[in-house]
Amino acid sequence: MNMDCTVSPAPEALIEERQGSIQTKGKSKGHISCTSDSLAGAVSQRACVYCGARVVLNPVTDAVHLVHGPIGCATYTWDIRGSLSSGPEMYRNSFSTDMKERDIIFGGEQKLAACIDEIVAKHNPPAVFVYSTCVVGVIGDDLISVCKEATLRHGIDVIPVESSGFKSGNKVVGYRAAAEALMKLIKPAEGHVIEPTKKLNFLGEYNLGGEMWVVKKYLREMGIELNVAFTGDSTVAALKQAPGACLNLVQCTGSMHYVASQMEKVYGIPYMDVNFFGAENTADSLRKIAAFYGDEEIMRRTEALVERELSRIRPDIERYRKKLAGKRAAIYVGGAYKAAALIRQLKELGVEIVVTGTQTGKKEEYENLSSLLSNGAILVDDANPAEIEKFLREMKVDVMAGGVKERVLAYKLGVGFIDHNHDRKECLAGFEGAVNFAREVYTTACSPVWKHLKTPREVSL
Ligand code: SF4
Repeated sequence: MNMDCTVSPAPEALIEERQGSIQTKGKSKGHISCTSDSLAGAVSQRACVYCGARVVLNPVTDAVHLVHGPIGCATYTWDIRGSLSSGPEMYRNSFSTDMKERDIIFGGEQKLAACIDEIVAKHNPPAVFVYSTCVVGVIGDDLISVCKEATLRHGIDVIPVESSGFKSGNKVVGYRAAAEALMKLIKPAEGHVIEPTKKLNFLGEYNLGGEMWVVKKYLREMGIELNVAFTGDSTVAALKQAPGACLNLVQCTGSMHYVASQMEKVYGIPYMDVNFFGAENTADSLRKIAAFYGDEEIMRRTEALVERELSRIRPDIERYRKKLAGKRAAIYVGGAYKAAALIRQLKELGVEIVVTGTQTGKKEEYENLSSLLSNGAILVDDANPAEIEKFLREMKVDVMAGGVKERVLAYKLGVGFIDHNHDRKECLAGFEGAVNFAREVYTTACSPVWKHLKTPREVSL
């Protein structure tokens, strides 16, 4: 293996228009600039609106995900947006209308209708999500009418997801498109009543490495039943039972707060934020859930579970904590809930967090992140690779937590990397996940490989 890494010199200056999106804790005044479209030409790490929608909906395991657009958009598949299923595997296929020049000139509605008919005839799915892409938005195909007619023809849900990539420079708009689609899917048919239950829904959990199964196991031990997760390891039939839950847990707030607030408005289901990344977060979340039920037996079982699990994992966490003393970390992830969880987890391991950023954080979420960091730490919204590179070098980062687009950058700079991407296969949730996470931080931050690498940091010093 060639361990030499050739890199360009560190970028010296930031793009002027980006200055408001970067803050140094203790030095910067005012609010960080966020929730705006990405700056054209700044090479944002964000994905497009269509990808935002696909991230949310793709884990519905038995639905067909049909991309109305050129074949290139359909490369965003299960391989990129991974999630585990306990049964159906339909979601691992990628269907596309494969629009060509002719369709773009004369319109793609007929082709789309024919594709839906063919898919239904061959696969008989319970639902089809039809995603619009840039080209479809430009030529103005009437997705809503085509889907409506297909629904009547086939007697299943054919749901348009209005996610043309150019609609916004912020993939959060794609989360909203997915949320609208989910609200349509779970709406009970006329005359059909979903009976209320004592079960809960778990929103913003995508079961990448089996996280939903871990939480389901804890809930069962506490005496609580999970109704359905949105959308990890879900099925169309299970999602349709969602209005019967008595509580919505929300983990990924960026993608699911809208759904939770809509379900509160339409079905009267209250919601609470939870977080199962890290031992302390897990313990706090389980206790919060138990308190909601207010049942003494549930609270007793919860305390027993938390105490048992914390004592079980304590020696492992302590062992890794000793090895990680003095390490410095950077975090760059999609949503602020994940960044906050990572800060807490890394702090539990004695790691100092010197850079934190997100693709989609909101003003109040950045205020919360800032409150968790020490003076001198950098906060960045919607970063680009040049900024990440600059901060990794300047802040002398040993280990970075991020997604697929940050992984290569970190490795090229001789920085350890903790994978929090959509295609991750290791479970990082719950008490067992906290140990997996600590092991991963240790193995990458303390890997002997970095000693043999001529790092850019050495070059520039
Ligand atoms: S929807 Fe647009 S931006 Fe997104 S992948 Fe397709 S062409 Fe690219």
